Amino acid sequence: MFTGYLIRLDDIAENMDWNMMERASNLFDKFEVKPVLGIIPNNKDPELLNYPKRNSNFWDQVRNWKKKGWEMAMHGNDHIYDKYCKKIDYLSLGGNSEFCNHTLEKQFQKLKEGLTKFESENIKIKTFFAPNHTFDNNTLIALKKLGINEILDGYGLMPYEENGIKFIPQLFYKLYTIPFGLQTFQIHLNYFKDKDFEKFEKFIELNAKKIITYDQAISKVENSLHHKMVRIILKKALQTKRFIF
Ligand SMILES: [Zn+2]
Repeated sequence: MFTGYLIRLDDIAENMDWNMMERASNLFDKFEVKPVLGIIPNNKDPELLNYPKRNSNFWDQVRNWKKKGWEMAMHGNDHIYDKYCKKIDYLSLGGNSEFCNHTLEKQFQKLKEGLTKFESENIKIKTFFAPNHTFDNNTLIALKKLGINEILDGYGLMPYEENGIKFIPQLFYKLYTIPFGLQTFQIHLNYFKDKDFEKFEKFIELNAKKIITYDQAISKVENSLHHKMVRIILKKALQTKRFIF
């Protein structure tokens, strides 16, 4: 069975730990790894705004990453958690949310605002993942209306299609490896200490050959009954203990 890894970096915005980003970027270049970057187009999250800005233009930097073949994903619009949901979200995880529990109109407006920013910076977006993994059916409807049909989140061991959306699963935030299927590793560089980076470096060194690109991952959409069963079991198991972050 296929085994592959995808690297997803969360909370990429004007304000972030740029030193860590530079270290990660050098590491990716050295091992020819092409990650997915979750960009917050209009970041207003007060916690994230505490991180430093860089002198150079952020969007020039985003275009440079894109030129290297890295995938740019939309990670919410402003990353403000103004709602709380009690496991009524799409992945039944619950928690703070930028999207879940907002009306369809409001969610459409938020997503449109984010996409307009990307468009004005000439960055083409085809995939989305919500802050704190919390989104609902209305998020899917709004995304589809705006031409986004792919999400980098969800349960399973292989990418799948559900409700007209292609999902690439993202199960763990720790660098666990299981010997089958596609695993997406969620990385928050802002929380990285030297020790975490060293661990990550070792992981990349060891597994670089198995790390695939976003496009390779999405091409593996698989809708067999067998994989559907696996998803249901994983969902039940992971809901009881929230592994993801
Ligand atoms: Zn985030």
